[in-house]
Amino acid sequence: MYLCDFAPEYVRAIQPYQPGKPISELVRELGLDEHNVIKLASNENPLGTSPLALEAMNDALNDAARYPDGSGFDLKVALSERYGVSADQIILGNGSNDVLDLAARVFLKPGAAAVYSQHAFAIYPLLVQAIGANGIPVPARDYGHDITAMLDAITPETRIVFIASPNNPTGTLSNKDDLQHFLEHVSRDVLVILDEAYYEYLPEANKTNSITWLDQFSNLLVTRTFSKAYGLAGIRVGFGIAHPDVANLMNRVRQPFNVSNIGLSGALAALHDVEFVQRTYALNRAGMLQLADGFRKLDVEYIPSYGNFMTFCVPGDAVNATKVNQSLLQQGVIVRPLGIYEMPCHLRTSVGLESENQKFLKSLERAIGELA
Ligand SMILES: *Cc1c(COP(=O)(O)O)cnc(C)c1O
Repeated sequence: MYLCDFAPEYVRAIQPYQPGKPISELVRELGLDEHNVIKLASNENPLGTSPLALEAMNDALNDAARYPDGSGFDLKVALSERYGVSADQIILGNGSNDVLDLAARVFLKPGAAAVYSQHAFAIYPLLVQAIGANGIPVPARDYGHDITAMLDAITPETRIVFIASPNNPTGTLSNKDDLQHFLEHVSRDVLVILDEAYYEYLPEANKTNSITWLDQFSNLLVTRTFSKAYGLAGIRVGFGIAHPDVANLMNRVRQPFNVSNIGLSGALAALHDVEFVQRTYALNRAGMLQLADGFRKLDVEYIPSYGNFMTFCVPGDAVNATKVNQSLLQQGVIVRPLGIYEMPCHLRTSVGLESENQKFLKSLERAIGELA
């Protein structure tokens, strides 16, 4: 028999994750000038990276020949001080996707199940499928998570519930009281993963302060990342905070050096660059207003967002969405089509610099005009 036929059926059935198109790829495909191309497809930080982090990472290069500190001691100490938890509650990951993967590998197996929402982050079903566990998608409500329905969807086999708040690609935020109610009623033998990759973009009034829930709920895992507001997406550092027993199991399946020394140094410096995160937040709020205003002028419906991106509905059908996406690409604007999210009429744009948002809106106007 052919080797690849021995791979489990559930592995062979995986549809590869489609990342945002890199600028270099569009330049190759359409022969555009790379200086005229903007990428608003992966919710990256338009301000780049914290200068303090850049400096620290440059210094870390001098230790490139050495293995990193596999325990991530310094970064864990800094995170534990920042969040008022003990270091043994922290799991570091090669991006928070790695942390999600560790949780799936610890708590899922073939026959087990995981609950997530329709239109939720595409990585969840991917991780579940890679293990041969069963995904239980729960229909969304107004594009957001229906937290009550998710509670009802839990089966005796369910070991993980994924909740993204804010969710990507919809930008929806779950209500704090709903989350608390969920945590109070969910069985303690189900791990609740609260994915807060966009937490730093929330106005103070909307912050859940989820980490304080860890004192009460031993089955909660909160994940955060350095990829978004800290501008380190390419360096891959994320973390989870959980009960020490949960963290301990996750750390056992982790690769011993899953975060590089450049990543550890960059994240540590970025964590202390409060000014950079504040600037990021302010730029994002302003950009969000700019985009919302632009969408209204174009009569384009959008989903109000709590992240660093906005998802909008192309007038007409999925064919129109494909055409608009194509036209945007021709004009050097990369956004994200959402077909794999069961939202074939929608596109998602990241919030960019003011000039990028402006270029996007002008290009969108032209793209929509071409439909007529
Ligand atoms: C971007 C994103 C992440 C972060 O992924 P990293 O692996 O940390 O880069 C996690 N969850 C959601 C919902 C995201 O959109």
